[in-house]
Parts: sequence; C-alpha cells; structure tokens
Amino acid sequence: MTLRPEFFRLVSYPSSGHQAYQFPVVLLVFASCVSAAVVPEPALQIFLGTTPDTLLRNLKVNRPPALNEQAKAQVIRCLPRDGEVTKLSDSERKKLASLEPVLRLHGRDAVYVVKVVEVPAAVIALHERSVLLISASGLALWNAQELQALAAHEIAHEYTWEQYQLARSRKESPAMQQLELYSDGIAILTLAQIGVDPSALTSALKKGIRYNRSHLGFARNEDQYPDFKRRQRFHRAIIEWMSVSSTKRNESEQVVSRSAWQASAH
Ligand SMILES: [Zn+2]
Repeated sequence: MTLRPEFFRLVSYPSSGHQAYQFPVVLLVFASCVSAAVVPEPALQIFLGTTPDTLLRNLKVNRPPALNEQAKAQVIRCLPRDGEVTKLSDSERKKLASLEPVLRLHGRDAVYVVKVVEVPAAVIALHERSVLLISASGLALWNAQELQALAAHEIAHEYTWEQYQLARSRKESPAMQQLELYSDGIAILTLAQIGVDPSALTSALKKGIRYNRSHLGFARNEDQYPDFKRRQRFHRAIIEWMSVSSTKRNESEQVVSRSAWQASAH
C-alpha cells in the first residue's frame, strides 16, 4: 500500500483546540498515583460508582456541542488532497453504514464526516471532533461489530477531549491511559445499548495490535495506551458491571411489581 504521509499525520496525531469539558476529572486526579497491579483502575471507579442508565443520562447532559458548520467546513477544506479512498466495495460500504446507530446514540450521526484513507496501519481516529478517519487496511481487517466498537471508542474521546489534549501536551502517560480506558468503557456501554456483543471491542483491539505489529513493528506512542491485557481486564470488569446492574434492576422491578400486586389484592 502506498504511504500517504499527509493522512498518516492526521491519523497519528489528531490535533487539539476544543472546548473544555470537565466530566471525569477524577481520572486525572488519581491517574498519577496508579499502580495497575495493586490499585483498581481509577477509570473503573467512574463506572462502578454509578449505573449504566445514569451514566448514559450524564453523557447526554454533558455531551459537547458539535463544531458549527463553518468550523466543520474549514476542517474538511484543510484535509489532505491525496490519500482518500473513494472506491469502496459493497461490503465496505455496508460496514461503514453499520456505524450509523453508534453515531446516532451519541448525537453524532449528522455531525461526523466518515472518510476512508490510505495509511499503512489499521487505525481509526477522530480528527478535530468532526472527521472520522478509517484506514483502508482497518476497514478490511475489522468486521462491522469491531468497527462499531472502535468508532464508539473514538466518539467517547469527545467527552474528555480537553483533558486528553492536556495530558498529551504534558506527556502524562498514566492520565492518557486512564482516559483510554474510560473511552473503552463508554464504547462497551454503547455496544450493549445497540445490541452488539461488547466483546467486539476486545477482539478489534487484538486484531489491530497484531496487524500493526506484524506490518509496522511497535508504535512510538504505545506508552499512551494501556497494554492489551490490561484493557482486556478492564473490558471484562465493565461487562461484569453491566451484568450486575441489569440483575439488580430486574430484581428491584420484580419487588416493585410484587408490591403493586399485593397492594391491589387488598
Ligand atoms: Zn483512544
């Protein structure tokens, strides 16, 4: 595949310059003192301290406003001229179309422009909160559910965009890793909401890491990300949290309906 340095730059280093949102500040407070083996992940505490329904409601309330049309047009005008892949097969178009429910859940269906680009790595990146860049190799590698999982992860970054840019500018790897885990958690929650097996995120990451290492070696920015095993553990914990929350909700609904029935029987 031809190397397209312009798009490679965008996918590797999405730029900053966005409005501040302070939603999971707790991540940055605790991230610097985390020892992954001993202390539970701070990002996990965000989830364990609430329920999926409440978290989804909070996300909706704290959703960053989309870039206005003028700013978005400017971002699109500034994209590299070469490197966009416009000839797509039916199955590739179908995979891209599968992103719709994910985008809709986060109010981004009428916001993002999705572009497939020629870069060597299997990657997906959100550029300037308005262009979802997917490499052609990634589009070929991931199935529709895995692509949905990774797109959900990218969307989730919008909720902590400012914190992420700050952590990156300060080269604070532990904070960046917590924000990555947080985005993984939101992605898993998103998959469950649209009826997709949440383990699609784990398999997408596994495939992507394996592909990129075998084709390109180790990435220079790997310290920004928790390693795969840590992410996998985190994913399992989130799936368990969703399952326990759902059981508790069902039990309390049964108690309510039993009480209602007993009240009506008197
Ligand atoms: Zn990420």
